[in-house]
Amino acid sequence: MGIFARQQYFGLLSSASDVPALRRNVPLAELCTMHVGGLADAVCTPASKEALCRCLLIARHKQIPYALFGGGSNIIPGDGFFPGVIFSTAALRGVQISGTKIKADCGCRLGDLVLAAARAGLGGLECLYGIPGTVGGGVKMNAGAHGSDIASCLEAATMFSTVTGEKRVFSKNELAFSYRMSLLQKTKEWILLDATFACTPTETQRIRARIAEVTKKRREAQPLSLPSAGSVFRRPKEGEVWRMIDMCDLRGYTIGGAQISKQHAGFIVNVGGATARDVHRLVCLVQERVLGTLGISLVPEIEFLDVKEEETCRLQRP
Ligand SMILES: Cc1cc2nc3c(=O)[nH]c(=O)nc-3n(C[C@H](O)[C@H](O)[C@H](O)COP(=O)(O)OP(=O)(O)OC[C@H]3O[C@@H](n4cnc5c(N)ncnc54)[C@H](O)[C@@H]3O)c2cc1C
Repeated sequence: MGIFARQQYFGLLSSASDVPALRRNVPLAELCTMHVGGLADAVCTPASKEALCRCLLIARHKQIPYALFGGGSNIIPGDGFFPGVIFSTAALRGVQISGTKIKADCGCRLGDLVLAAARAGLGGLECLYGIPGTVGGGVKMNAGAHGSDIASCLEAATMFSTVTGEKRVFSKNELAFSYRMSLLQKTKEWILLDATFACTPTETQRIRARIAEVTKKRREAQPLSLPSAGSVFRRPKEGEVWRMIDMCDLRGYTIGGAQISKQHAGFIVNVGGATARDVHRLVCLVQERVLGTLGISLVPEIEFLDVKEEETCRLQRP
């Protein structure tokens, strides 16, 4: 796309997103928790769900490359220039409570959702506390911990088709949840605008105790002082990934600035100056070693955006 056309489309997106200007040449490291990546041509943070829908349709129809970011806690963006727009849901954080139901917008942080529920005496979402994602990313990944997940309380979600412009409420069944999986991973057509959760009336004190418990467990188990994208691989039926990585003697193994965490071998951490390529190479190395040593195929849970695959890498997509 020529520079003139690009400026024209970006002007169109600015007015459609209800924000005065798009941010241009934005470091992708600012937008993801692994703190890697090159520059994005533009970042657009729509001020409302309607504005997000308008922007997505414009990008789609004008064939502007785009990606949608929630908290950026499961995405590794490439080191090069992303020649399009990153749409961020950061401004879409609304939460409405009605009886035992909570409706949260896609950009609402999972922690804020749990705290809003706790203030209203509504329990059931505590397992999500400490997961640094949003409702949109959380539903796509069916985020969870401590034996539960976001699907367990979810009742319905308002979705938007980037193909037809249709807005429709999907039931929990239609969202086809399973372990760290949902319909949103199987089709790029739909994005989530908001989700409604059915909670259980619970004493606020009990909810707060549960939040404290899951926070303690997380602090003990996870390398929270270093940038990461959480667990790198999906848990295969054969067992815990960190045990397999340990059996291959890879704990602490480092490529560039990316390291298999010494604290939790299921995480890759950025120990300083990591590139997306470092992370990608480390992922490939783990896959090859675990397959070669134990005969087990590991599938990444983290999502690489625009990272060029290397010849040696047998990276499997979910
Ligand atoms: C320290 C740490 C700990 C973690 N612990 C856990 C854990 O315990 N359990 C767990 O499950 N995960 C965990 N994660 C991983 C991550 O937080 C989750 O996968 C989370 O759900 C991702 O949400 P996000 O908003 O950051 O999504 P992003 O990383 O922004 O995006 C992930 C995917 O969702 C898509 N997406 C975002 N918003 C929408 C939307 N509105 N509609 C459609 N698609 C959308 C994106 O396009 C992308 O494809 C952890 C990560 C870190 C860094």
